[in-house]
This record gives sequence, C-alpha cells and structure tokens, in this order.
Amino acid sequence: MPELPEVETLRRSLARRVVGARVIGVWTSGLPLRLQRPVPARALRRASLDRRIVAIRRVAKYLLVDTDAGDVIVIHLGMTGRVLAAAAATPRPPHTHVVWTLDDGRELRFVDPRRFGWITAARPGKEAELPELRVLGAEPLSLTVERLAALLARTRRAMKAFLMDQGNIAGLGNIYVSEALFLAGIHPAARADRLSAGAVARLRDAIVQVLRGAIANRGTTLRDYVDGAGRRGRNQFRLHVYGREELPCPRCGTPIRRVVDSGRSTFFCPACQKR
Ligand SMILES: [Zn+2]
Repeated sequence: MPELPEVETLRRSLARRVVGARVIGVWTSGLPLRLQRPVPARALRRASLDRRIVAIRRVAKYLLVDTDAGDVIVIHLGMTGRVLAAAAATPRPPHTHVVWTLDDGRELRFVDPRRFGWITAARPGKEAELPELRVLGAEPLSLTVERLAALLARTRRAMKAFLMDQGNIAGLGNIYVSEALFLAGIHPAARADRLSAGAVARLRDAIVQVLRGAIANRGTTLRDYVDGAGRRGRNQFRLHVYGREELPCPRCGTPIRRVVDSGRSTFFCPACQKR
C-alpha cells in the first residue's frame, strides 16, 4: 500500500505534467471504489470540467488537485490505486475508473484493480472538513520532538500501533514504521508512554530521515506503486529491515525477525531493538 513517500513522489511527478492544463472531459467507469461507494461523477464534473489545474498538494496519503475555481479533487490510492498522466492516444489500462481529458492532448487517469481507492470533490476551502481528512494527525515531515512527546504521553499503546494510527501521525504505514523504529533502536512492542526523552528525539529524527530518504529514491515499489509517469521507485533496495526476515541486520548481523499482528507484518532486529 502506498505510504507518504509514494504519494509525495506521485504528487511531484504529476505537478510537473498536468499543472496548467485545462480539463475538457471527465469520464467514470461507473464501478464503485472503497466501501462500495460510487465515484461522485456529477460532483467531479462540477469541480473540474472546464477548469484549469493550478496545483497538486498532498495531505498525509491524500492527493489534492486544485482547480482555478478553488474546487479540490481529493484522491486516496487505497491498496492498488495509480494516477497516471498519459497521452490520450495511448490505450487506457484495464481497471481505469476515472479519466480527466486535458486540453494538451493528455489524460489524467485513475487506475485501481482492487478498487480500494477513493475519490471525491470538495468545494473551495472545504476539503479540510471532509471526515476522512478531519481525523488526520500530525504531518510527519514537519513533526517536532515536543509534539511527538505530547502525543506519546497520552497513550499506553505499543509503539507500532501508535505509529500506524493515522490520528496520531498521518502518512506512515507498515514499511516506514518498521524502518523508523529500527533506525531509532526502539522495539515495536515498547510502550509509547515509556520512551526516554532521548528515544523520543531519536524517533522523530528517524521518521524524518526514513521519509526523506524514500522520497529521494522516488518511493518504494513492492508490487503496484508507480509515479505519475508509470515509473517504479527505488527505495525497496534501501530498506534495512522491512521484507528482510531471516536476513542479517545491516548493523549487527543478527537475523531480522518478523511478527504478524492483525494481518500486518512488523520487521525488527531483536538485538538492536531491545524491549
Ligand atoms: Zn541489529
């Protein structure tokens, strides 16, 4: 599932390609996306038809497309969603569910085989009021040690669960939580409110370092993720623990361990990340 670095990489590649273009057509497949909810075709047309795309922003794992009338298209990739900017003449991939035809001969395409993605439109200035966005916690790239310490102090949950909760810090998932905890030397089951001040500071730095590094590598492609031009990321070759069960820890050589909790894997080094 794409996490913050993948969505940020997508945002940058799309911004270079479609900002400034005008939308001259909106097509939807008619098939529902996440939670069987239909794509709001009328709202998408009202928000984007005959409008110019003026910016593409990111909030946590959401992509926000701003139009010159102030309306905002909000996109979540779910598990397998992609947003591609492609020449209109190239065939649409299977599982294309929304197409914005642009005045420069290209199309902006939302493709999603498993249909866990989500798209909606918000009126000018109203996107932050969407229930999905209103519940989001701190933006990890601008997280301060003080804010992180305050968030940690009010919970007794395990570190992995705390970091996965989008209401605390928004945008992290399985990959970057495992990586950040490894870099900070914190056990995934450690209790959030019991971290030392030094560990909190290390964790904040590790989160920022892991995300910035992944953005510099244009994201992690394990299965589906590609940027707006269909290119895979390179960060999968730079992971320290994620997906490396039984392989030696890059720091100490101890075999990396994997634990599964509610269907999600956590990878850690039992020697570098003591409880
Ligand atoms: Zn180790």
